[in-house]
Amino acid sequence: MAVPRHKHTRSSVGQRRMHIFITPVSLATCKKCSKPIRPHSICKHCGYYKDKEFINVLGKLTKKEKKIREKEIKDTQKDQKLGGGMSMEELSKK
Ligand SMILES: [Zn+2]
Repeated sequence: MAVPRHKHTRSSVGQRRMHIFITPVSLATCKKCSKPIRPHSICKHCGYYKDKEFINVLGKLTKKEKKIREKEIKDTQKDQKLGGGMSMEELSKK
């Protein structure tokens, strides 16, 4: 079995390990439903990418699930519209 030749001090071990870490995932927000998504990828919640539908999200759902999902999307769109209006007003005030 290989045996280490010298003792590794806590300091040198720490210096080696300071570069070992997991970087947080960078997230963008979906333009349609404003959910956090990976950049340059289709939104899994609404199936849209660059204002175009690529996945029919509601297709495989049952009637009940469909209703709930449609409501969610509508609510988020309303919130987005309200939020956008508010921010524009705030900007004009400033
Ligand atoms: Zn979306």
